[in-house]
Amino acid sequence: MTVPQPTAETRWRCTLCGNLTRFDVTRSSKVVEFVHLDLAGEATTEEREVLSETIESVRCRWCNAADQIELVDRPGAEV
Ligand SMILES: [Zn+2]
Repeated sequence: MTVPQPTAETRWRCTLCGNLTRFDVTRSSKVVEFVHLDLAGEATTEEREVLSETIESVRCRWCNAADQIELVDRPGAEV
C-alpha cells in the first residue's frame, strides 16, 4: 500500500484510534554521504544528500496498526 504523504495543510491520523502524533515510520532512502575520517580512522559523516526516499510503512505507536493512516487537515489550515 502507498502511504499518503502529509503536506503543509495535512497531517497523518490513525484511522483506528485517532492518534495524530506518534508513528513508527519505515523509510528506505538512497543517500550520498561525505565521510571524513580522522587520523585514527574514526569516521564522521559531515554531509548527507538524499537522492531518493520512500516511506514503506507507517505504524501507529498507540494501537500498533500498520498502514491504517489517513490524511486530515492540520489545525488552522485553510480549506
Ligand atoms: Zn492507532
